[in-house]
Amino acid sequence: MVNYVNNYHSKSITHIMSAPNLKAKSNGFNAISLSFSPKMEKAFRLEYFENSIVPVRVALLLVMALYAAFGILDYQIYPDHADRFIKIRFLLVIPFACIVLLLSYTPLFKKIWQILLLSSLLIGSTGIIVMTMHEPDNYTYYAGVILVLFAGYMFFRLNFYTATIGGWAVVGIFNIIALLSPNVSSKVILSSNFFFVGANLIGMFAAYYIETNIRKNFYLNKKIDEEKQLIKSLNTELENKVKKRTEQLLLAKQVAEQSSANVKSIIEGTTENIWAFNKNYELMYLNDSFKQAYLNTFGAWLEPGDNLIEALPHDLRDKWQARYNRVLNNEQFEEVDVIETTKGKLYIRVGFNPIVREGNVIGGSCFGKNITYQKMAELEVLKAKEQAEKSDKLKSAFLTNMSHEIRTPMNGILGFAELLKEPELSGDDQLTYIDLIEKSGLRLLNIINDIVDISKIEAGLVEVTIQDVNLDEMIRNIYRFFQPETHKKGIDLVMENSYNPEDTIIQTDKEKLYTILTNLLKNAIKYTDEGYIKLSYTLKESAVEFTVQDTGIGIPAERLTDIFERFMQVELTNKLAEQGAGLGLSITKEFIEMLGGHIWVSSKKSKGSSFYFMIPYNKSHHIRNPKSRIKSNMQK
Ligand code: ADP
Repeated sequence: MVNYVNNYHSKSITHIMSAPNLKAKSNGFNAISLSFSPKMEKAFRLEYFENSIVPVRVALLLVMALYAAFGILDYQIYPDHADRFIKIRFLLVIPFACIVLLLSYTPLFKKIWQILLLSSLLIGSTGIIVMTMHEPDNYTYYAGVILVLFAGYMFFRLNFYTATIGGWAVVGIFNIIALLSPNVSSKVILSSNFFFVGANLIGMFAAYYIETNIRKNFYLNKKIDEEKQLIKSLNTELENKVKKRTEQLLLAKQVAEQSSANVKSIIEGTTENIWAFNKNYELMYLNDSFKQAYLNTFGAWLEPGDNLIEALPHDLRDKWQARYNRVLNNEQFEEVDVIETTKGKLYIRVGFNPIVREGNVIGGSCFGKNITYQKMAELEVLKAKEQAEKSDKLKSAFLTNMSHEIRTPMNGILGFAELLKEPELSGDDQLTYIDLIEKSGLRLLNIINDIVDISKIEAGLVEVTIQDVNLDEMIRNIYRFFQPETHKKGIDLVMENSYNPEDTIIQTDKEKLYTILTNLLKNAIKYTDEGYIKLSYTLKESAVEFTVQDTGIGIPAERLTDIFERFMQVELTNKLAEQGAGLGLSITKEFIEMLGGHIWVSSKKSKGSSFYFMIPYNKSHHIRNPKSRIKSNMQK
């Protein structure tokens, strides 16, 4: 800004100095007519008058004083004429001068001051001339005429021409009076004229010189005033411009400050990590989020000026330096980083942007965002998609399996019903066929029940009905129901109960608990060919834990989680799994979870499986007296 003002200032000065009017050789007035242009002449005259008024009054006073003082000489040099001379002095010349002096205090004086002074001059000189005529050969008073001439040329501030007229008029008056006076010799006239003419010429020269100088000064002063005015107006203009510019700059500064404050608050307030570096990888800027994130991740506190590469762990330096180099090569890009932290994986997306000034890359800025949640969500979606695809596949496989599962018992029923029509059928065959029809019917019923259950679960129609359930009673019923089947299969069915029957009443959903237990037992029977199946339970403070153990074929370890998924059976490759829709365990799991519990399994291939499940309950009665552990083989 300083430069700007200086330049401007010097430019203005140059402009003034080179202005043509300052270079003018002319003094602005005509050297012969001694006059300016009319307008300037008027101004000049006014100023000349104003400058002259005081000297004129002084000159008049001086002239009057001298004129009076010379009266003393009258008595010494011309005692005979003294009375007359005194009259000339005190009754004519001095009163006239006095009147002029008084008039100088009136506005009229401005207009006629030159004429009045000229008249004073002529009257004064005529007075002296008249005095000299009394004794023309005495040269004493001739000097007085010369004094008057000089007064006219130099003290009265008459302008050159008026003074010249006055001067020559004095010479004229002298000659007229001298010629008219009988006692004035031609010698006196001639010699006097020499002096008077000489005095006039010198006076004219002086007066001309004085006036031209005054005019010159006036002209120059006028010019200087004009220049001053110009400079002043230029200065004002300059000042206004500076003021305006300052205001603009101030406004721009305010706007810049405001927007910088806005940007700062955004940068500082954001949870994104922002940092900028120069060509030497030195931090030029970093926000608090970045400082904190860096501290959390790498345990180092960064400050501006720190070297970004040196601050990094050794194994990351090459990777990051290569990225920074790409930015410094004017490349804009994005990278996603996975950082292993003590709290798990951290996904960071970093945007790299070059900072370009005047066409050159001077550094780079980076915007880092923690996208762990987003990434996790993406992974979840991916997982869900895979899951959906898998269950889609399973569903179609289930449908195929289901049609097989339904058709097989249906064919059994229809086939044996057809055979029953045979009139010559023996009684035994008849019973066998009816038995087979019954079994197929049951199998079909099981499948239909499962489908109905799973459909209800899917549709959210299953409700939980809490009521008192006597576990002892329920288990006895279940035993009675399954015992014939296990007996037929040649395996032991064992029910373990360590409580008094009246202490086993809990509050839960009776139907669901029954379904859960029968599903687990059905499976155990289905997948066990020898050994035993054992059902037991433990009553805890607010939950009951059941175990259904078998010595069957077991489940391979890799299948242990899958078996609770719907339609899983179809994936299993073991031969014995060919019966069943693969819905039993998933229905079981859903029911257990509806009752607020959970199920888990442990199994060894060829050794058997143990299914455990726990459900919370509201106990109806406190367990008062747990019996010692009794093993009851109810089969016996
Ligand atoms: P399914 O109708 O086929 O029995 P489930 O959902 O009841 O369907 O069981 C899923 C799969 O889990 C079965 O096909 C079987 O392979 C396995 N499984 C369940 N219970 C047992 C068990 N007690 N012993 C061995 N395998 C079992």
